Formats: sequence, C-alpha cells, structure tokens
Amino acid sequence: MDFRKTVFVRSAAKMKDFPTDDQPRVVFVGRSNVGKSSTINQVVGKKGFARVSSMPGKTVFVNLFRVDDKGWLIDLPGYGYSKTSKEERERYSKLIEEYFAVDQENISRIYMIVDARHKPTADDVTMVTWVRHYGCPLTVVANKLDKLKKSEIEPNLARIRETLMLSEEDVLIPFSAEKGTNCDQLKADIQNAIEEN
Ligand code: GDP
Repeated sequence: MDFRKTVFVRSAAKMKDFPTDDQPRVVFVGRSNVGKSSTINQVVGKKGFARVSSMPGKTVFVNLFRVDDKGWLIDLPGYGYSKTSKEERERYSKLIEEYFAVDQENISRIYMIVDARHKPTADDVTMVTWVRHYGCPLTVVANKLDKLKKSEIEPNLARIRETLMLSEEDVLIPFSAEKGTNCDQLKADIQNAIEEN
C-alpha cells in the first residue's frame, strides 16, 4: 500500500457527508494539539497535508481522506480544548457518538493519539470508553516521544496502558511525528487494518 497516494476528499460536518461505501475506515482521534495532524502528515509522507493547527480546538470538521484507493482515513476533530464552549463540546460528543453508531461495522481500527509525556486525560479515558462500547480495535499512539528522556519512556508507557486500561489486544506505539520514530510500525498497523477487511 502506498501511503503517498493519500488524497483529501472533503471535510464533513454532518453524517450525510460521511462516506457511504463499505471500504474499511481507519479513524484518528485525539485531544487537540496532541499532534494528530502531524502524525497523519508523517504517515502520508507529506508536510502540511492534514492541517497543522495554530489554533487548537478550531478543527470542527471531520476530514476525510482516501488511502491508495483502498480505504478511508477519517480525521475526527480534536477534543478537550479548554476554551471550547459547552455547545461545541456537546456538538462534538453528538457527532462522534452518531458517527460510531452509524459506521461501526466499517471501522477497522481506531488510532488514538496521546501525549507520551503526560497521563492520559479524562477526555482520553471517555474516548476509550466509546471505542469499547462500539467494539472497535484500538491502537494508541504515544506521540512526542522525542520530548522524553530515555529513562522516562517505559514508566510513561506503563502509565498510559494503566490509565486507559489497555488490554493485550490493544496496540501501543511509542511515536514521534516530529522525528518519524516508529512510523514504519504505525504504517504497517494501518495497512493491516485496511487490508484485513
Ligand atoms: P493536532 O491539533 O492534534 O492536529 O496537533 P498538531 O499536529 O497541529 O501539533 C500540535 C503541535 O505539536 C505543533 O506545534 C507540532 O509541531 C507539535 N508536535 C506534533 N508532533 C510532535 C512530536 O512528535 N514532537 C514534538 N516535539 N512536537 C510535536
């Protein structure tokens, strides 16, 4: 699979704008500013592809990409920005729940980006609860690994596993969107998710 053949299709604000075919979807979620756009850019090998946000929390649209004509990469808006209004938060929850409910059969895997430096937030835990509820396979990408000292890596990964209550089946990838660390592992995981369906 050639990730460089990823194309932006459209931004969606409502369910009717989501894909309706049955090609597999890989879905990217994460707190705003965690580096979700940078991660997607690193995977597709293009700078400035998914928008790198200068204004956290402003991505209210769901961005839809197609990967090498084989599947959809669905970039859900970042959550948990502190200045987001209550209305925006509710709109976000509604959109995500509606999306998971409607499309769960086509979702091959959820990619949840977290910050390798920090304990996952309450919003991250809520997101995992949704992922469990809809029975989607989960890969957690612990981004910004380059910001950790070597001695911090193992304990931080263990804290992420514990806080999100990850199981044996869940994949946890230590990652740096900035340096490209373990990008091959992430790409192989995404390729598997798309091709096994
Ligand atoms: P998004 O809001 O989740 O899409 O996050 P962005 O991709 O816009 O990144 C937010 C900020 O984190 C930007 O300033 C990025 O340059 C920075 N960033 C993203 N990934 C990494 C990483 O792996 N290492 C470091 N040091 N910074 C990163």
